[in-house]
Amino acid sequence: MHPLAELDLRHLWHPFTQMRDWLASEPVVIASGRGAVLRDVHGRRYLDANASIWTNLHGHRHPAINRAIRRQLNRIAHSSALGLANEPASLLGAQLIRAANPASVPATLTRVFYSDDGSTAIEAALKMTWEFSRRTLGRPQPRFVSLGGAYHGDTIGAVSLGHIDTFHARFGGLLFKSDTVMAPYCYRCPHNRGKPERADARAWRRCRWECVGEVERAFERARRRGHHYAALVVEPRMQGAAGMIPQPEGWLPRAAEIARAHQALVIADEVMTGFGRTGGADRPEAPLFASHLEGVQPDILCVAKGLSGGYLPMAATIVSDPVFNTFLGRPEDAFFHGHSYTANQLGAAASLASLELLQQPENIRMRASLERDITAELGPLWLEPRVGDIRQCGLVVGIELVRDWRTRDPFPARDRVGHRVCQALRARGVLTRPIGNVIVLMPPYCMTRAQFRQVVRSLVAAFRDTF
Ligand SMILES: *Cc1c(COP(=O)(O)O)cnc(C)c1O
Repeated sequence: MHPLAELDLRHLWHPFTQMRDWLASEPVVIASGRGAVLRDVHGRRYLDANASIWTNLHGHRHPAINRAIRRQLNRIAHSSALGLANEPASLLGAQLIRAANPASVPATLTRVFYSDDGSTAIEAALKMTWEFSRRTLGRPQPRFVSLGGAYHGDTIGAVSLGHIDTFHARFGGLLFKSDTVMAPYCYRCPHNRGKPERADARAWRRCRWECVGEVERAFERARRRGHHYAALVVEPRMQGAAGMIPQPEGWLPRAAEIARAHQALVIADEVMTGFGRTGGADRPEAPLFASHLEGVQPDILCVAKGLSGGYLPMAATIVSDPVFNTFLGRPEDAFFHGHSYTANQLGAAASLASLELLQQPENIRMRASLERDITAELGPLWLEPRVGDIRQCGLVVGIELVRDWRTRDPFPARDRVGHRVCQALRARGVLTRPIGNVIVLMPPYCMTRAQFRQVVRSLVAAFRDTF
């Protein structure tokens, strides 16, 4: 066994990992990467098919981002945002506000509050909204509503908004109460009367938008009971950790309209979906956020994962004036929240370089063509009897595996089918992680068509290995 693997097994504790299983075999130790390829300490090559847990946008060791970090490092790595400003954070603030207000939606997002990761971006949004609702709307004990299957991070506030039982149920006693409303999940929706076809469930669904009715009813119920919602918190266009569950087009604007009719804010958690991940490269202006692709401008936009291109931990909670203005006033009215690394200079420099890349015409063309390539290369997977649903939303894909596609009969969780398929994929040189029985494909934007074809071929081979 490699000595670094031994040290890991002896000393480290990995996230979301049953360590008893982890300790049973030699872990892959990543030593380097270039573009969409990762290399381990034994010199084995892997395709990074989940963009290093949904963070990496432009590939590893991108020269422009490396250069930006080096240049910044030659000046200073970090200085405090408590009482001090800095160059890259100011420049990035201006660029984020520009990107957050494309011409297709009202230009209402005006302020950037930095933090370190997706969970802290959500945590800040929660506390801001709590105060906004109490001070501005005079509601003493506001509540939050989020979607079934929602995942907003692992800190206590974010977990309180989460609705994935395996992750969240055990911590119930630690959490504040939030409400949940049905998420659109066309493939397994009880209101979908369509018969499965060899196509995305959003295409063959037959329903009357009962999922929107559920949102309306949830807000009405809350109003009758006198605990108005301060905000609807939503992963726009596609719920990530829920299992890559896409919303049918038109759901988001309808849900946002209902929330606003009830004076609730719309908090868009774009930690996974932001920075072009859900597509849009083929539209005028090539909007970078999922909300905007649905014509919705949230009151608070939370970003992290891809913000720095996947290079450094960096997050932002981007808010509108009414929220910001709530905290103007006496010293004690300030927003009492912050982290030591807030507005980190290296992170901001990397993020600026990444945003600049995203706006270059050749980068936009590359994303548009990768999106088409993904659609084309996924086509043959519909021939696989264990493939129930293939859900592509821009540059992210969830493939739900089932026992029988005609009945949608799921594999039992204990069979760990998704896990086994991903183990087989790894042996074939492709790295990704499943969510239950859903295989996630989320390439860095630089992945070539040939590389993506290799991913899909390896997946078909992994099905043969597993079933
Ligand atoms: C990953 C994720 C988070 C949490 O981000 P961390 O950086 O892991 O704290 C929150 N929301 C969504 C939608 C995510 O995908």
